[in-house]
Amino acid sequence: MLKIGLTGGIASGKTTVSDHFARLGVPVIDTDQISRELVEPGKPALAEIQKQLGARFLSADGSLNRRLLREHIFADDAAKTTLESILHPAIQKEVERQLPRIKNEPYAILVVPLLVENNLGYMSDRILLVDAPESLQLQRVRQRDGSTEKQAKKILAAQASREARRNAADDIILNTGALQDLHRQVEKLHKQYLSLKARSD
Ligand code: ADP
Repeated sequence: MLKIGLTGGIASGKTTVSDHFARLGVPVIDTDQISRELVEPGKPALAEIQKQLGARFLSADGSLNRRLLREHIFADDAAKTTLESILHPAIQKEVERQLPRIKNEPYAILVVPLLVENNLGYMSDRILLVDAPESLQLQRVRQRDGSTEKQAKKILAAQASREARRNAADDIILNTGALQDLHRQVEKLHKQYLSLKARSD
């Protein structure tokens, strides 16, 4: 099966795009959602985080203190590598577990927000970028999450640059227009992916 890795910076429009692919009947696997489920209380990956990084990342109720962990790996590269060595193989395994269920579909969308930052291109056959200028990302993230300009800028600064993402991409959706325009671009790519799949069979 053809796997399209969908990526883009915060508030670029990934969810809006993947929702439209889903509406067209394309299966969508969201690695962000998988990674959240992997660290739920009682799951092996959470026990591994506790063992390798410390019990202080668990809250009193046994759930992961995501904010504390995020701040820690932001400041400590070794801890980031350790966390990735726990999560990435587990995410990959879960994706492979889900794929057989949709094996008769021509292609699937695999949402990988940090594909460029974490060199996760190997997870997909083709990289689709949802691209937007930073000014628009800032505006959307502030509107959606109620972030301050300072918070929004900090998140953007920690992510890959627009140029790095564009260099990694095979296909680009430029999300600067109206939703209708975004949907049209998704529909055009849908046709392209279907014919790409048909040609490779
Ligand atoms: P991501 O999943 O990449 O973080 P979202 O798809 O959640 O981004 O989009 C960020 C915000 O911007 C959401 O509130 C979404 O509704 C809005 N948005 C995205 N694209 C458009 C667009 N073309 N026109 C208007 N609003 C948009």
